[in-house]
Amino acid sequence: MLSSSWILSALPVLALSLACALLLRRRAELKRFSDSVRELSIAKEHGSHAARLQHPNIDLSKCIGCGLCVAACPEDGVLDIVYGQAVVVHGARCVGHARCAEACPAAAIAVTLGDLSKRRDLPAVQADFEAVGVPGLFLAGEITGFALVRTAVTQGVAVADAVARRLAARPNTNGKSAAPLDLLIVGSGPAGVACALRAKELGIPYQMIDQAERLGGTVACYPRRKMVMTQPVDLPLHGRLPRLTYQKEELIDLWYQLKDKHGLPIETGVRVAGVARRADGLLAASTSIGNIVAKNICLALGRRGTPRKLGIPGEELPKVSYSLLDVESYRDLNILVVGGGDSAVEAAVGLSSQPGNRVTLSYRKKAFFRLKSRNIVAIENAIQRGQLDCIFESEPTEIREDAVVLAVGEGERARTISIPNGEVFIFAGGIPPFELLEKAGVSFDPADRPAVVETVDKGTGLLVPLCLALACAIGMMVWTHWYGSYYELGAYLRAMSPMHDYLRPAGPFGLVLACLACALFIWNLLYLVRRSLRWGSFLGGSLKVWMGSHVFTGLFALLCVLAHSGFTIKNTSGGHALIALFIVVIAGSIGRYLYAFVPRAVNGAEANLDTLRSELAALSADWDRSGRNFGVQVRREIDRLAGSARWRGSFFERIYALINGQFRLRRLVRELREEARRESVPDDEARHFLDLARNTYRLTLQTSHFEDIRAILATWRYYHRWLAVLMVLLALIHIYVALRFADLAWLGHVTR
Ligand SMILES: Cc1cc2nc3c(=O)[nH]c(=O)nc-3n(C[C@H](O)[C@H](O)[C@H](O)COP(=O)(O)OP(=O)(O)OC[C@H]3O[C@@H](n4cnc5c(N)ncnc54)[C@H](O)[C@@H]3O)c2cc1C
Ligand code: SF4
Repeated sequence: MLSSSWILSALPVLALSLACALLLRRRAELKRFSDSVRELSIAKEHGSHAARLQHPNIDLSKCIGCGLCVAACPEDGVLDIVYGQAVVVHGARCVGHARCAEACPAAAIAVTLGDLSKRRDLPAVQADFEAVGVPGLFLAGEITGFALVRTAVTQGVAVADAVARRLAARPNTNGKSAAPLDLLIVGSGPAGVACALRAKELGIPYQMIDQAERLGGTVACYPRRKMVMTQPVDLPLHGRLPRLTYQKEELIDLWYQLKDKHGLPIETGVRVAGVARRADGLLAASTSIGNIVAKNICLALGRRGTPRKLGIPGEELPKVSYSLLDVESYRDLNILVVGGGDSAVEAAVGLSSQPGNRVTLSYRKKAFFRLKSRNIVAIENAIQRGQLDCIFESEPTEIREDAVVLAVGEGERARTISIPNGEVFIFAGGIPPFELLEKAGVSFDPADRPAVVETVDKGTGLLVPLCLALACAIGMMVWTHWYGSYYELGAYLRAMSPMHDYLRPAGPFGLVLACLACALFIWNLLYLVRRSLRWGSFLGGSLKVWMGSHVFTGLFALLCVLAHSGFTIKNTSGGHALIALFIVVIAGSIGRYLYAFVPRAVNGAEANLDTLRSELAALSADWDRSGRNFGVQVRREIDRLAGSARWRGSFFERIYALINGQFRLRRLVRELREEARRESVPDDEARHFLDLARNTYRLTLQTSHFEDIRAILATWRYYHRWLAVLMVLLALIHIYVALRFADLAWLGHVTR
């Protein structure tokens, strides 16, 4: 047995180790938060924060900050945990997989297009995808504003169905076809191919064209062997695509196989420049091979548009390309890659890894921005290894047969260089097809869009488990009341009651409850397996439902254990397990209900801070433009002062910085006022500006306080997790002791 002196001397060691571990953890957490806040402001500055299409909308009043959504998202940096809750960081990188929404156990995420009332980049289409006000003109796939291969396939099929209905309603009555075509499909991405397959299946005469030289649309332009995440979807004339991931090459091979098998009439290398209505009511598409007339046209153009050209001499040479399909076909070459986005960087790094290639990346800006983090690492490594040369602030001005001319630098540093060259890849983005659509009569006016059905808030899924647990609690109350004459007795008197044999913990009723509690615990812990990204899929069911069952089984198990113990807590391993279970349930409730409120306040304050900062920047822009630099100086000073109080290592350091910061703020405002006078900034403007600066500083500190409270509340997770482990250990000891020493003789009678 351990002596009490040994236990007493070990306790401080344990307590101090725990304190140190918590402190180190907290430091790491603060560092992570400061990194993610910085990343968020970089994303806002560089424009990658605002999502383009579907994106996660997070309800901060529900988010418990478990981070499962961040782990589930296959794209880089779309979501992160900021102040203990999930926040969209690089929204523009979201392609709408919606894995985050599936993974969220608190139903805090919905993947939607967000507020559509101000968006002027989404065409107005009806439910059957016909453009509002342009009969016979249909849009399908990403052009409608919804990304994803599966959505494109579903919409392509829906368009063919709508055309079939239209044709059936208005058959040719004069016996001869009024138009050579019933349907013209423009675009051979997933939407176009699905539309073509369905049209073939329905026997609609159609033709399909695409400006690219190959089939597949955006998927064909993905990097080699990219895994495409999707959901099971039915493809006409083929059947179900059942898997969740496909390699890009698998999908493209499938398109080609289907084209050959069903003889799909697809013409590649044909570009549509416009669509107009003829006097006879038919639609005419003006294309690079002449006009194509059809009763219906399906524009499945995607949103990548036509590659943007540089407009420089030599761009028409055959060595110039606007996409890269297979890096392995380029070896022993001098290659120039133009651009600074992810596609350009991926191409440059891929090409530079091929034997004998000498790759130069030309980018017109001073540094990369908006790049995915893995591409930043890849390009920096390639540059460090001397694998590729990167010339910032440069633009090609001429492409010759065996060289390219680059204009490098600006102003006095401007110069021209010529480098040997065999291939040029230009990644200057695309011109979206919006102009083409507008000229065809498609409206982008939000008022013309059919009203969006409000998404019904499906709640957190906790009402059912809580109601069930309440019903069980009421049942237990009735039971206790029924047998009140036994439960109201003291421990000694209970043993003499005739009901004791039946109701005692080791009696038949007590034992059934104990077994039920064990089964409930096991079910409860399965939630942890379901949460795991690796093993979770074996269990099926949504995480929201599992979270509900976690809550219900936890509460029901507590009721069973209470009844098993006869509503008395003894000084035994069983009694201690019951206390631990109580705390686990309370900590869980704090986490599930209270925790969301404080981080929401921090994130809300952070949003207000953003507004104040942009107001400061807007106000100072005019002064800064006139060369005074006063605005920049104030913002820099305030940020420095607030920053020094914000991400400090410990709570006490932050308290000190807070008190000291007030004095420093006053001094700084005094100095800045004098500076404003020297710079002849008008008095009222300077006053307003300094007020804003003061508020910015205070709000920055406020977020830090909220953050401290959040950190304290966040400890629920540790109590919940580690006390649950302790509770399971104690319960195991209790079961072992009970099996060895409890009076279970009645069991023998039953089994005999
Ligand atoms: C980097 C990246 C990763 C992605 N990852 C995934 C993923 O993992 N899972 C997923 O489901 N989705 C993913 N997506 C989204 C998905 O690729 C698109 O939503 C889907 O390809 C849209 O299909 P679409 O048929 O509408 O258009 P697209 O595939 O873009 O095809 C449009 C076609 O129209 C042609 N076209 C355009 N203009 C004209 C014109 N004027 N004349 C003639 N032809 C024209 C184009 O050449 C193109 O072939 C990703 C997208 C990107 C950019
Ligand atoms: S509760 Fe939902 S939104 Fe919040 S971090 Fe967890 S998975 Fe993401």
